[in-house]
Amino acid sequence: MLNYKEAKDLLFQHVSKTATETIQLCHAEGRITAEDIRSPVAHPLFDQSAVDGYAFKLNNDHNYDNDWLSVSGEVKAGDMSDGQIEDGSAVRIFTGARIPDELDTVIMQEDVTVNGDSISLNKEVKLGQHVRKAAEQIKEGELAIKKGSHINPATIGFLASLGIKEITVAKTPAVHIIVTGNEFASDAAGLASGKIFESNGEMLAAALKKMSINASFEECADDLKLLQEKIAEANDQSDVLIISGGVSVGDYDFTVPALEANGYETVFHKVKQKPGKPLLFSKKEDKAAFGLPGNPRAVMICFYQYVLPYLNAMAGKSSYQLTEAVFASANNYKKKDDDRTHFLAGKINGNEVELLEIQGSHMMMSLAAADCLAVNPEDTLEIKKGDLVNVVLLP
Ligand code: AMP
Ligand code: MG
Repeated sequence: MLNYKEAKDLLFQHVSKTATETIQLCHAEGRITAEDIRSPVAHPLFDQSAVDGYAFKLNNDHNYDNDWLSVSGEVKAGDMSDGQIEDGSAVRIFTGARIPDELDTVIMQEDVTVNGDSISLNKEVKLGQHVRKAAEQIKEGELAIKKGSHINPATIGFLASLGIKEITVAKTPAVHIIVTGNEFASDAAGLASGKIFESNGEMLAAALKKMSINASFEECADDLKLLQEKIAEANDQSDVLIISGGVSVGDYDFTVPALEANGYETVFHKVKQKPGKPLLFSKKEDKAAFGLPGNPRAVMICFYQYVLPYLNAMAGKSSYQLTEAVFASANNYKKKDDDRTHFLAGKINGNEVELLEIQGSHMMMSLAAADCLAVNPEDTLEIKKGDLVNVVLLP
């Protein structure tokens, strides 16, 4: 059986990249840039004042301690000075206003004494002070955002400040979720007969939504023919299929044969990990299918460890894996005679990670409170308080 590192290596060897599309910047939050974005302008666009005050030309022969500077005009943000600045005089200027070409230095209004139309400077000044220089952030044509970047609100703000209105991003993979099982009750009244509330569908849809993916979703009874048909239908509309349940070796586990009947080939089935040992990954040309175990905790953990990075890689995201970090364990954890990698719900507190206690693969409570997965490697039988553990930060 593969261990999780081997399984992941195989997974990333089978990534089919999505196509690209050009969209409006205002709709790009959460998307991945499909090409390098170069700045069409210099930024700042012009020399501008960083404060409210007075702009003037610093003249080293001038004795600023004793002399008064006359103030010959005013420039507000958005104004352009008319260029009629008398030699040796200052202009009143406000934050963000363009510095008139003849001037080079700004003093804050707090540092001057005003007398009628003149000011005297109460503080030593340096050439160019309080001036935001044109192009000091980025020059025209320079790289603004790299290909493969995740677009967040700050990215949007930055690109908007450069006048960019449209960008080319990776198409979002089309994802279809099928939850299999005969045991789902449609309402509380149905529970008496041994049914349960279905929970994987909403959970997966929410996790995908966080990745800006609006997945379609349906339930399917444990019936080979029905599942086969649903997979065939989904194939036309989706790039990635996520099937929950029915992936082990029980008499009612039809995920593998239903995918095979549709031309999917198994890349790997079963990983030396807990939870999520029955995990299946299969491919049919550029389409991918994940068979996740039905147990909700295993579903969520396999999603974070395999599905999410795979979808990120499809979109060409450069950092497609979740961020890893190292923390000292706040408590002890002992494996019961098991050489699998264990993924544990963890809660970071300062520089420690607490390994949350209820860890059965059917139980979600601790994962609901977690902000990371702690990785207990195959060959580590025991984690002691204070031991360093690798964690994967949850999005
Ligand atoms: P399976 O992998 O289909 O054998 O299911 C393993 C366990 O997960 C069983 O206890 C199922 O009842 C449970 N399970 C399967 N699918 C779901 C689901 N969509 N929501 C909640 N529990 C599920
Ligand atoms: Mg089942």
